[in-house]
Amino acid sequence: MSEQEVPVEEHPWQVRDRLRKAMIAMSSDEFDQMMCKRFPGIFADRNKPMSETCMCWGFDVDDGWFDILWMLSLALEDESKQTGAKIEASQVKEKFGGLRFYTGPCTDRGYDLISMAETLSVRRCEVCGKYGKTCSSEGGYWLKTVCKEHAALLKYGWKAEDRGNR
Ligand SMILES: [Zn+2]
Repeated sequence: MSEQEVPVEEHPWQVRDRLRKAMIAMSSDEFDQMMCKRFPGIFADRNKPMSETCMCWGFDVDDGWFDILWMLSLALEDESKQTGAKIEASQVKEKFGGLRFYTGPCTDRGYDLISMAETLSVRRCEVCGKYGKTCSSEGGYWLKTVCKEHAALLKYGWKAEDRGNR
């Protein structure tokens, strides 16, 4: 094998950064349309009226979590294929600084996958996707998971004593 034939492997972090940048470069509308087109089963209720579903509000999170939603949807689609279960999102939003992904009836593994994605979200800045922590707004009323830069920009307190996990 010549030197040129040695495969160049991307480090997983590089892959993640590339995916994240591509997702963040999309507008919310583009992301919304891409998700509904790519996962028509999971987001079948996206355009139903609000009397029927909270999915009518779309993907109610900032761009920094788009790749988490993408990966979760791939995993849920796979779960549907493996088990034949119909998994449909009923609401996607942020609550108490974390991702919430609600569905109709789901498999145990599907719930685990959702729980894993929700757990990931509280270590990822909702704005830019970098390492983040769930911080309180001035006055402590709102919680949002943000990186240090966005904490400063959006006036959330960054708790220096909590070092978190990378
Ligand atoms: Zn950020």
